[in-house]
Amino acid sequence: MSYPICVTCGVQYGGSVSSCPVCEDARQYVPVSGQEWTSLEALRSAHRNALRDEHGFLGIGTEPKFGIGQRALLVEDVLWDCVTLLDDETASRVGALRAIAISHPHYYSSMVEWARAFDCPVLIHEADREWVMRPDAAIEYWSGDTYDLGRGMTLIRCGGHFAGGTVLHRETDLFAGDIVQVIPDRAWVAFMYSFPNFIPLPGASVQAVGAALAPFAFERIYGAWWGAVIEGDGSNIVRRSVERYVAALDGNLMYRP
Ligand SMILES: [Zn+2]
Repeated sequence: MSYPICVTCGVQYGGSVSSCPVCEDARQYVPVSGQEWTSLEALRSAHRNALRDEHGFLGIGTEPKFGIGQRALLVEDVLWDCVTLLDDETASRVGALRAIAISHPHYYSSMVEWARAFDCPVLIHEADREWVMRPDAAIEYWSGDTYDLGRGMTLIRCGGHFAGGTVLHRETDLFAGDIVQVIPDRAWVAFMYSFPNFIPLPGASVQAVGAALAPFAFERIYGAWWGAVIEGDGSNIVRRSVERYVAALDGNLMYRP
Protein backbone atom coordinates (compact mmCIF):
# COMPACT_ATOMS: atom_id res chain seq x y z
CA MET A 1 0.00 0.00 0.00
CA SER A 2 1.12 3.50 -0.79
CA TYR A 3 0.47 5.68 2.26
CA PRO A 4 -0.63 9.25 1.51
CA ILE A 5 1.75 12.06 2.47
CA CYS A 6 0.65 15.70 2.77
CA VAL A 7 2.81 17.81 0.47
CA THR A 8 2.61 20.86 2.73
CA CYS A 9 3.57 19.38 6.11
CA GLY A 10 5.18 16.12 4.97
CA VAL A 11 3.17 13.98 7.41
CA GLN A 12 2.39 10.44 6.28
CA TYR A 13 -1.10 9.06 6.96
CA GLY A 14 -1.97 5.47 7.82
CA GLY A 15 -4.96 5.29 5.49
CA SER A 16 -6.76 7.24 2.81
CA VAL A 17 -7.80 10.72 3.88
CA SER A 18 -9.40 13.71 2.19
CA SER A 19 -7.93 16.47 4.33
CA CYS A 20 -4.86 17.03 6.52
CA PRO A 21 -5.78 17.94 10.13
CA VAL A 22 -2.16 18.98 10.76
CA CYS A 23 -2.40 21.64 8.05
CA GLU A 24 -5.97 22.64 8.89
CA ASP A 25 -4.82 23.45 12.44
CA ALA A 26 -4.19 27.16 13.14
CA ARG A 27 -0.44 26.46 13.44
CA GLN A 28 -0.18 25.33 9.81
CA TYR A 29 -2.07 26.12 6.61
CA VAL A 30 -3.57 24.59 3.52
CA PRO A 31 -1.98 26.43 0.58
CA VAL A 32 -4.19 28.62 -1.60
CA SER A 33 -3.61 26.12 -4.41
CA GLY A 34 -5.37 23.46 -2.31
CA GLN A 35 -4.56 20.22 -0.52
CA GLU A 36 -2.06 17.98 -2.33
CA TRP A 37 -0.89 14.46 -1.61
CA THR A 38 2.14 12.48 -2.59
CA SER A 39 3.70 9.15 -1.59
CA LEU A 40 7.08 7.92 -0.41
CA GLU A 41 7.58 6.26 -3.80
CA ALA A 42 6.97 9.52 -5.66
CA LEU A 43 9.18 11.40 -3.20
CA ARG A 44 12.07 8.98 -3.81
CA SER A 45 11.95 9.65 -7.54
CA ALA A 46 11.97 13.45 -7.29
CA HIS A 47 14.05 14.16 -4.16
CA ARG A 48 17.15 13.00 -2.37
CA ASN A 49 18.52 13.49 1.11
CA ALA A 50 21.62 15.54 1.76
CA LEU A 51 23.63 14.12 4.66
CA ARG A 52 26.33 16.43 5.92
CA ASP A 53 28.03 17.70 9.02
CA GLU A 54 26.00 20.13 11.10
CA HIS A 55 28.28 21.57 13.77
CA GLY A 56 29.57 18.14 14.77
CA PHE A 57 26.52 15.99 14.09
CA LEU A 58 25.26 14.32 10.93
CA GLY A 59 22.37 16.36 9.52
CA ILE A 60 19.77 14.83 7.19
CA GLY A 61 17.71 17.15 5.00
CA THR A 62 15.73 16.65 1.81
CA GLU A 63 16.60 18.35 -1.49
CA PRO A 64 14.85 19.99 -3.19
CA LYS A 65 13.07 21.19 -0.05
CA PHE A 66 10.04 19.12 0.84
CA GLY A 67 7.25 19.90 3.31
CA ILE A 68 8.32 22.22 6.10
CA GLY A 69 11.99 21.77 5.18
CA GLN A 70 13.49 20.78 8.52
CA ARG A 71 16.63 18.71 8.80
CA ALA A 72 17.00 15.85 11.27
CA LEU A 73 20.16 15.20 13.30
CA LEU A 74 21.90 11.98 14.24
CA VAL A 75 22.86 12.35 17.91
CA GLU A 76 24.99 9.27 18.60
CA ASP A 77 22.50 6.51 17.73
CA VAL A 78 19.36 8.57 18.33
CA LEU A 79 17.62 10.30 15.46
CA TRP A 80 16.51 13.73 16.65
CA ASP A 81 13.47 14.91 14.66
CA CYS A 82 12.73 13.29 11.33
CA VAL A 83 12.23 13.92 7.62
CA THR A 84 9.70 12.29 5.31
CA LEU A 85 12.09 10.89 2.72
CA LEU A 86 13.74 7.63 3.68
CA ASP A 87 15.63 5.73 0.99
CA ASP A 88 18.25 2.99 0.90
CA GLU A 89 21.18 5.39 0.66
CA THR A 90 19.99 7.36 3.70
CA ALA A 91 19.41 4.17 5.69
CA SER A 92 22.89 2.83 4.97
CA ARG A 93 24.57 6.15 5.86
CA VAL A 94 22.65 6.43 9.13
CA GLY A 95 23.55 2.86 10.09
CA ALA A 96 21.75 1.81 13.26
CA LEU A 97 19.34 3.65 15.56
CA ARG A 98 18.25 2.76 19.06
CA ALA A 99 15.51 5.41 19.13
CA ILE A 100 13.86 8.23 17.22
CA ALA A 101 12.77 11.25 19.27
CA ILE A 102 10.65 14.01 17.74
CA SER A 103 10.07 17.53 19.02
CA HIS A 104 6.49 18.05 17.82
CA PRO A 105 3.87 16.88 15.27
CA HIS A 106 5.10 19.02 12.34
CA TYR A 107 8.11 16.70 12.16
CA TYR A 108 6.30 13.40 12.60
CA SER A 109 6.82 13.00 8.82
CA SER A 110 7.15 9.30 7.94
CA MET A 111 8.39 8.31 11.42
CA VAL A 112 6.79 4.85 11.24
CA GLU A 113 8.77 4.07 8.05
CA TRP A 114 11.98 5.01 9.89
CA ALA A 115 11.01 3.01 12.99
CA ARG A 116 10.38 -0.09 10.91
CA ALA A 117 13.53 0.31 8.82
CA PHE A 118 15.70 0.66 11.93
CA ASP A 119 13.64 -1.60 14.20
CA CYS A 120 13.54 1.02 16.95
CA PRO A 121 10.89 2.95 18.88
CA VAL A 122 9.68 6.50 18.22
CA LEU A 123 9.42 8.50 21.43
CA ILE A 124 6.55 10.98 21.52
CA HIS A 125 5.09 12.88 24.44
CA GLU A 126 1.60 11.60 25.20
CA ALA A 127 0.19 15.15 25.17
CA ASP A 128 0.53 15.11 21.36
CA ARG A 129 -0.99 11.68 20.84
CA GLU A 130 -3.96 13.14 18.92
CA TRP A 131 -1.56 14.33 16.18
CA VAL A 132 -0.25 10.88 15.32
CA MET A 133 -1.75 10.21 11.88
CA ARG A 134 -0.29 6.74 11.37
CA PRO A 135 -0.63 4.88 14.68
CA ASP A 136 1.83 2.03 15.08
CA ALA A 137 3.19 -0.27 17.77
CA ALA A 138 6.63 1.32 17.30
CA ILE A 139 5.41 4.59 18.81
CA GLU A 140 6.12 4.84 22.54
CA TYR A 141 4.27 7.58 24.36
CA TRP A 142 6.09 9.00 27.34
CA SER A 143 4.57 11.16 30.06
CA GLY A 144 5.71 13.63 32.69
CA ASP A 145 8.32 16.39 32.45
CA THR A 146 11.44 14.45 31.41
CA TYR A 147 12.42 11.11 29.90
CA ASP A 148 15.85 9.58 30.48
CA LEU A 149 17.13 8.30 27.13
CA GLY A 150 20.29 6.94 28.77
CA ARG A 151 23.93 7.84 28.03
CA GLY A 152 23.42 11.36 29.32
CA MET A 153 20.52 12.20 27.02
CA THR A 154 17.28 13.62 28.41
CA LEU A 155 14.05 14.50 26.66
CA ILE A 156 12.44 17.57 28.22
CA ARG A 157 8.81 18.44 27.74
CA CYS A 158 8.60 22.19 27.27
CA GLY A 159 5.12 22.55 25.79
CA GLY A 160 4.56 25.90 24.09
CA HIS A 161 4.28 25.46 20.33
CA PHE A 162 2.56 22.11 21.03
CA ALA A 163 1.32 20.72 24.34
CA GLY A 164 3.88 17.93 24.16
CA GLY A 165 6.64 20.10 22.68
CA THR A 166 9.92 18.34 23.46
CA VAL A 167 13.65 19.16 23.33
CA LEU A 168 16.68 16.89 23.74
CA HIS A 169 19.49 17.76 26.18
CA ARG A 170 22.91 16.09 25.93
CA GLU A 171 26.06 17.29 27.69
CA THR A 172 26.35 20.98 26.75
CA ASP A 173 24.00 20.77 23.76
CA LEU A 174 20.28 21.45 23.44
CA PHE A 175 18.44 20.10 20.40
CA ALA A 176 15.40 22.30 20.23
CA GLY A 177 13.45 21.71 17.01
CA ASP A 178 11.37 24.86 16.89
CA ILE A 179 10.08 24.52 20.44
CA VAL A 180 12.87 27.01 21.11
CA GLN A 181 13.41 28.75 17.77
CA VAL A 182 16.90 29.73 16.64
CA ILE A 183 16.42 33.09 14.89
CA PRO A 184 18.69 35.24 12.70
CA ASP A 185 19.99 37.18 15.74
CA ARG A 186 22.01 34.42 17.40
CA ALA A 187 22.08 36.32 20.71
CA TRP A 188 18.40 35.48 21.19
CA VAL A 189 15.82 32.75 20.61
CA ALA A 190 12.06 33.01 20.09
CA PHE A 191 8.87 31.07 20.70
CA MET A 192 5.61 30.92 18.75
CA TYR A 193 2.29 29.12 18.70
CA SER A 194 2.31 29.38 14.89
CA PHE A 195 5.42 30.38 12.95
CA PRO A 196 3.85 30.60 9.45
CA ASN A 197 0.75 32.40 10.72
CA PHE A 198 2.54 34.64 13.26
CA ILE A 199 0.47 33.67 16.31
CA PRO A 200 2.47 34.34 19.48
CA LEU A 201 2.43 32.22 22.62
CA PRO A 202 0.90 33.54 25.84
CA GLY A 203 3.44 34.78 28.37
CA ALA A 204 2.67 31.94 30.78
CA SER A 205 3.49 29.34 28.10
CA VAL A 206 6.82 30.99 27.30
CA GLN A 207 7.67 31.18 31.00
CA ALA A 208 6.82 27.47 31.27
CA VAL A 209 9.32 26.70 28.50
CA GLY A 210 11.93 28.68 30.44
CA ALA A 211 11.07 26.89 33.69
CA ALA A 212 11.33 23.45 32.03
CA LEU A 213 14.83 24.31 30.80
CA ALA A 214 16.04 26.11 33.94
CA PRO A 215 17.46 22.93 35.60
CA PHE A 216 19.63 22.21 32.53
CA ALA A 217 22.88 23.91 31.55
CA PHE A 218 23.80 24.08 27.88
CA GLU A 219 25.99 26.06 25.53
CA ARG A 220 24.96 25.21 21.97
CA ILE A 221 21.38 25.25 20.72
CA TYR A 222 20.52 23.34 17.56
CA GLY A 223 17.42 24.63 15.77
CA ALA A 224 15.44 22.80 13.11
CA TRP A 225 17.11 24.11 9.94
CA TRP A 226 20.52 23.83 8.30
CA GLY A 227 22.85 26.27 9.96
CA ALA A 228 20.40 27.25 12.70
CA VAL A 229 22.87 26.72 15.54
CA ILE A 230 23.80 28.98 18.46
CA GLU A 231 27.43 28.35 19.32
CA GLY A 232 27.49 29.19 23.03
CA ASP A 233 25.87 30.73 26.12
CA GLY A 234 22.63 28.85 25.35
CA SER A 235 21.20 28.73 28.88
CA ASN A 236 21.55 32.49 29.34
CA ILE A 237 20.20 33.20 25.87
CA VAL A 238 17.03 31.20 26.60
CA ARG A 239 16.57 32.86 30.00
CA ARG A 240 16.85 36.43 28.72
CA SER A 241 14.81 35.63 25.60
CA VAL A 242 11.92 34.44 27.78
CA GLU A 243 12.13 37.74 29.68
CA ARG A 244 12.25 39.80 26.47
CA TYR A 245 9.30 37.96 24.96
CA VAL A 246 7.10 38.38 28.03
CA ALA A 247 8.11 42.05 28.28
CA ALA A 248 7.08 42.59 24.65
CA LEU A 249 3.71 40.94 25.26
CA ASP A 250 3.29 43.36 28.17
CA GLY A 251 3.98 46.33 25.89
CA ASN A 252 7.65 46.86 26.77
CA LEU A 253 9.63 46.73 23.52
CA MET A 254 12.74 48.29 25.10
CA TYR A 255 13.75 45.23 27.18
CA ARG A 256 17.46 45.02 27.93
CA PRO A 257 18.92 42.15 29.93
ZN1 LIG B 1 -0.42 18.62 6.10
